[in-house]
Amino acid sequence: MLWAMLLLPVAAGIGFFTVHSSRALQREALDDLTAILRLQQQFVEHWTLERSADIGLLASDPRILTLPEPRLRAMFRTVLDESPAFNIIVYVDQDGRTRGDPKGPSGVDVSDRDYFKAARDGREFVSDVITSRLTGKREFIVSSPVRDGQGRFRGLIMGGVSTEALSTLMRTVQDETSGNAVLLRASGELLAPLDADGGLKPGDVLLDRATAREPSSGVYRNAQGERVVGTYLWCLDGRWLLAAERLETDVIRVHAGVLAVPLAGAALVFLVFGPALLRLARSLDAPLKQLEEHARQIEQGNFEVACPPLPVADAPEEVLRLDQAYRLMVARVRSALDALREASLTDALTGVGNRKRLFSEGPRLLDASLRGGRPTSVLMLDLDHFKLVNDAHGHAAGDAVLAAFAGLLRGLLRQSDLFARYGGEEFAVLAPNAGARQAVELAERIRQAVERLEVPVNGETLRFTVSIGAASLEPPATVHAQGAVAILEALLGRADEALYAAKATGRNRVECRSMASGSAPVL
Ligand code: GH3
Ligand code: MG
Ligand code: MG
Repeated sequence: MLWAMLLLPVAAGIGFFTVHSSRALQREALDDLTAILRLQQQFVEHWTLERSADIGLLASDPRILTLPEPRLRAMFRTVLDESPAFNIIVYVDQDGRTRGDPKGPSGVDVSDRDYFKAARDGREFVSDVITSRLTGKREFIVSSPVRDGQGRFRGLIMGGVSTEALSTLMRTVQDETSGNAVLLRASGELLAPLDADGGLKPGDVLLDRATAREPSSGVYRNAQGERVVGTYLWCLDGRWLLAAERLETDVIRVHAGVLAVPLAGAALVFLVFGPALLRLARSLDAPLKQLEEHARQIEQGNFEVACPPLPVADAPEEVLRLDQAYRLMVARVRSALDALREASLTDALTGVGNRKRLFSEGPRLLDASLRGGRPTSVLMLDLDHFKLVNDAHGHAAGDAVLAAFAGLLRGLLRQSDLFARYGGEEFAVLAPNAGARQAVELAERIRQAVERLEVPVNGETLRFTVSIGAASLEPPATVHAQGAVAILEALLGRADEALYAAKATGRNRVECRSMASGSAPVL
């Protein structure tokens, strides 16, 4: 959630910027480039016209035809000194031979050059860039025909303009938003500025578009594989090409400050709320995880697993309450379960253990006693003619007798004895550490106490007797864990036999059956 708080505004900002702004930025960049190229186009064309005008003015000077060679040379040298754009200025006579060359020998035949043919046809001329035969430099030729007083063709004045002058010119209108604007020949060869790298080759997107006179828009990859925005403009009637490209990253970076707003906003939100939220998240997370872990234990039935204290000191109020309620609930479930377990082992009428308790706790007691090398005894008790009590006084009276009998025995037995209602009016006592003699003594004590017991029911006093069968097991005996149940059952069986004998021989009696070690099933 915290990361989302930080990243969503940023992602939204970047997304918005990318989708909505980048196209607008590209258009803006293209407009800028086009404007700067227009300016440069005007400069280049105006400047070139000025150079033509310089030559035209010179060609109309009547002294050209009259001055001798040295004076002509001196005159051209003066013009060159005043016009640094020119590499050379020279007069070409009507036979196509140079005259008055201030830098080299005269008499060079240039009659095959286009500017000579143009002058012969009466035209002024601006050439493409060539390597000069006279100076050996890259330059373009500006020429103007020379006529005599009768208007006859008498040659031409030719000026070689250096491309370096063009470079200087272009640099004066260059700034960081104009990109790397360059002047190219139609073939893509670089003219100016001379220190610019490259030029354009056929196959480059911009040159191909310019050659096809297609409008330039959108981002493309230039010859170096960089993503750029670029445009072009033809000048001097399609002779030269002005082109400019800007890196897309530069275009976008100029406006990338826009991104700073959502970024700064997100960072601020994170700084202000982040630490508090992190603390809150931790104070929720750890306690809830612990509760969940404990709840899983409870789910698997492990009710005894303790619930550790809350792992954080500053948990929110709600978590504290949830934790308290959960602990209370676990405690109640535990006590309810304990009560249920206890109830399932207790006889509801008499409050003593039932047969289930005898068989769940009895084997453990028996086992401990035998392992300690002590004898163990079992008594089976059955009320005599109990049916008659029911028949004569009613079932409720019978219940009262049963409860009184159980109450009496509880007083007579030791804490370590296990006393259980075996079923109906039959009870069993498991007396660890009691040998045959003690068992018979105990049984006799019980028999006599019962004989003396008076149970008041509905204004009458009921009396009854009990018959008791006892069985004992004397050490030594070794017991397997699961063997204790079988021994208990065997003891109960022997005691039951003794009880049967007591009944058969007149009731209100104690009979004893000792059980030899070897007669137990698993020893
Ligand atoms: P004996 O001396 O041979 O043991 O005779 P008895 O009448 O005691 O034995 P019998 O097995 O014939 O009768 C047991 C009676 O115990 C029958 C039954 O109604 C009664 N009884 C069993 N459980 C309860 C009880 O929870 N409450 C009451 N009131 N009577 C019960
Ligand atoms: Mg009975
Ligand atoms: Mg009976």
